[in-house]
Amino acid sequence: MRILVLNAGSSSLKYELFDNLESVASGVVEHIGEPGGVKDHEAALEMAEKRLVEGGFLESFARLDGIGHRVVHGGERFVAPTRIDETVVEAIRELIPLAPLHNPANLQGIESMAKKAPGVPQVAVFDTAFHQTMPKEAWLYAIPTEFYERDGLRRYGFHGTSHHYVAKEAAKRLGKPLDACNLVTMHLGNGASLCAVWEGQSVDTSMGFTPLAGLVMGTRSGDIDPEIPIWMMKRGIDADKVLNKQSGLKGLCGDNDLRRIEERAAGGDAKSKTALKVYVHRIRHYLGAYIAQLGRVDAVVFTAGVGEHSVLVRQMVCEGLEPLGLFLDTEKNLRGEAVISAENSPVGIFVIPTDEEKEIAVQTEAVIGR
Ligand code: AMP
Repeated sequence: MRILVLNAGSSSLKYELFDNLESVASGVVEHIGEPGGVKDHEAALEMAEKRLVEGGFLESFARLDGIGHRVVHGGERFVAPTRIDETVVEAIRELIPLAPLHNPANLQGIESMAKKAPGVPQVAVFDTAFHQTMPKEAWLYAIPTEFYERDGLRRYGFHGTSHHYVAKEAAKRLGKPLDACNLVTMHLGNGASLCAVWEGQSVDTSMGFTPLAGLVMGTRSGDIDPEIPIWMMKRGIDADKVLNKQSGLKGLCGDNDLRRIEERAAGGDAKSKTALKVYVHRIRHYLGAYIAQLGRVDAVVFTAGVGEHSVLVRQMVCEGLEPLGLFLDTEKNLRGEAVISAENSPVGIFVIPTDEEKEIAVQTEAVIGR
């Protein structure tokens, strides 16, 4: 089966072609709609198709067996990957107020592809879907309930495809079915979130109504006193820009690249050292909360750019958590092994590379094959 996975952003289009779930080609078209770039998503798809055809990977998009789309927001309606038809397109459109930057771009990808390859089944895989199993006490905010009932203001959570993928991989490592596993999955990339997984299902996650909540990220503040944006707005400050683009690691030390921050901290830079400490402190805050919530934990999982590669962050996160059952083997951590917990550690500590595109391909095949 040949599945094309598309991740359409507002100005970029990432694509990856899978043949029987093996990745055979991937690429990205950037600067869509910008001066010097291609005109729109349709033109970007044409460029992607041309590259894949010229590379000998495909005769045309019309010959694909399926197309899987990453869709950021599925609201409460979408709890699983869904075959796209007109009703689904309308529903994704209705969810635009909840994801004004992302859902329109995802829709453009879907609609352009429907024109280019009309007979090929398309599947939407939602970033929010995995978290729809959270209990109400985990997703309801303590604000007047009409804001939820009328406007849909609640915790949704994101990165669901990644949390789900690494949870499944962790279950394989534990040699148990996923629905017998309690896990804390830690997606630490430029965007970052933690997820508490109870018997294979998400029961809590650190992102909220938007991906701004929770951990300290590359440029996003994560959790702050909710009065702070109000304070800013009263002074005419663009709180949206400050909290989404100028905060997080960047706001703390001027850089959002954790690798460089580690280098500068090692060289004695005080702000970089503090940024690292604040970053790790917040991760530990959620990790502790989720371990308490789950009671019994089989394993914790590090994934995404920082989780997969930063020996230092993994070490700082696990430091002193032996009373909670986390015994890190520092040598294994240093070597970047797949299991970095000590032999006798009651809780496994795993490093699992995430692969959202592969998971979208897997889910797409499953939906088409039904
Ligand atoms: P992602 O969004 O998953 O691509 O993750 C990006 C983040 O991972 C950036 O902050 C990178 O600096 C960080 N990262 C990648 N490789 C390393 C590394 N070897 N050590 C520390 N951080 C890394």
